[in-house]
Amino acid sequence: MASDDQPTGPARVRPLPPEVIERIAAGEVIERPASVARELIANALDAGATDVRVELREGGLRLLRVSDDGWGIAPDDLELAARTHTTSKARTLADLDTLVTLGFRGEALASVAAVAELTLASACDASGMAEVITLREGVCVARERQPRGRGVTATARDLFAAMPARRALLRGPRYEAARVAAVTRSYALAHPAVRFTLIGDGALLLQTPGTDLAGAVAATFGADVARALLPLTASALDGLPEVTISGVVAARPFHFATREHVYLSVNGRPLANRALHAALETGYRPTLRKGRHPLLIARVSVAPERIDANIHPAKLEALLRDEASIGAALRRLTHEALGASPVEFAGGAGLRQPVMGVAGALPLRLTFPAARRRRGLRLREQPRGYLARLEAARWDDEAPAHAPLPALEPLAQFDGALIVAQSEEGHLYLVDQHRAHERILYERLLAQTPATRAPSASSGQLLLEPLLIELTPSQARTLSARLDELAALGLELQPFGGAAFLARSLPSAAGAAQSAAGVAHELIEDAAEEGDDWLDHLRVSLACRSAIRRGQPLSEAEQRALLADLRAVTAPAICPHGSPLIVRHSHAALTRLFEW
Ligand code: ADP
Ligand code: MG
Repeated sequence: MASDDQPTGPARVRPLPPEVIERIAAGEVIERPASVARELIANALDAGATDVRVELREGGLRLLRVSDDGWGIAPDDLELAARTHTTSKARTLADLDTLVTLGFRGEALASVAAVAELTLASACDASGMAEVITLREGVCVARERQPRGRGVTATARDLFAAMPARRALLRGPRYEAARVAAVTRSYALAHPAVRFTLIGDGALLLQTPGTDLAGAVAATFGADVARALLPLTASALDGLPEVTISGVVAARPFHFATREHVYLSVNGRPLANRALHAALETGYRPTLRKGRHPLLIARVSVAPERIDANIHPAKLEALLRDEASIGAALRRLTHEALGASPVEFAGGAGLRQPVMGVAGALPLRLTFPAARRRRGLRLREQPRGYLARLEAARWDDEAPAHAPLPALEPLAQFDGALIVAQSEEGHLYLVDQHRAHERILYERLLAQTPATRAPSASSGQLLLEPLLIELTPSQARTLSARLDELAALGLELQPFGGAAFLARSLPSAAGAAQSAAGVAHELIEDAAEEGDDWLDHLRVSLACRSAIRRGQPLSEAEQRALLADLRAVTAPAICPHGSPLIVRHSHAALTRLFEW
């Protein structure tokens, strides 16, 4: 914004100068009710609203209305605001680089007015009266005054009524309503301090409390999910002091068949940034069953000059400097949060299941939390208000440990497979010895890269006699490019003419029990496989091959050492294949289970 603007009141709306118009990407295409909702919600947020209400009828086709309590539009500017390239948010080329607003092209209201009847009611002060204009085909056809508190109500009616071809591209009201709900949800989760209300055909579909992210999640997904949130927070990434990440991911028992509940926003703008979404997925992928996705909300904030939202017509993509470091941080945070979340044993009722109604149903079936009954046993529970429940949810001692794995004291070995252990707080843990050891070995192998290896040192066990390994020519070619990485893992190979190699050492993790020749052959075949993730496969297979088996008795000292090593890894709750390795029975759950 220009410096002569008041920061808390409406800046005047002005046409953009031609050189700015030239620089901005053609945009603001209104495709469906959800695009209208996105633009109107963005305008409300840009006006400093703390309360945003979205209302729709017949999926937004008949009516879509967004009301806010922001600073309004000056009465003289109302008509101007609905013209093309008129805005209060940018004046000069330089402004485009330091934008803190969601809008800047001055096109949205004009685009809506071109395809629907648009009514704008605006009050800029506490007089209690609003100036109201109605536009048809972009032309002002009525002007009046109506009572209204400070803020703007923008109403789009009969979208595409005069454009049957465009209207034919829309789906039914139920589908369009679900799209509007998804847009509203994504803004509500990106702006948890703003209270959002969504009303569809008279029914309350969503209402967030306008407090914080936990409150917004509880209102959107229910208190059960809110109880199971793991924080994702980081600041000052790799020398990027201005970047902060905040967010949450729901513990692993909550997962979905689609990516629709992975929410990413940058500077308050929900984004479909491919690289960052891919980074998030790389982080959570190994921690969940195949084809499942978490509820994940990642909010990134960067200095305004480091993001350019001017590359996509609907501003759904943005160019981000430092994308690689931000992606790496998102990947690490997600992986660590989910990888450290033990499976909870919920009071005898079996493992907690994902909340239905969120998993499969259209978002519109989400209910207002007051109507949602809490799952699980809770004897002598007093009826409590929504906020009290929220508070309880946040402080419930049964919530999965947000902290890293606590120190565990081994009590016994069960069935030669599980270590039974307790934490200082009195929670009971069952730890799968094979998977735990697998995780520890896998992370050690991860740390062994060509860069971390001393040039002369061998991290493998030297073979008394080198082994000759014959491969196919294509295997040999693939392998030749990987000799450094293999040497870092302790597998030293030397080309021996043609497609033959001499193995001089084997990874110490390869396990002494099996015959060296057999192991070497298998490993080298693995190492010569096509594909980008060969190295990870090799690490997983090495870790699996050499981890303590089930059925192997462990002394108390060995159990203790294993539990201590497990505390040091980044993802102590899942094995490298992605299966759970810790089950936790909280003390409170035991108390309930035994009716103590
Ligand atoms: P842009 O948001 O890119 O500036 P729009 O066409 O969406 O363009 O809006 C034009 C102008 O109308 C905005 O710059 C702003 O000054 C004003 N405006 C629109 N909606 C609101 C609102 N809800 N509250 C206050 N001002 C608004
Ligand atoms: Mg706008």
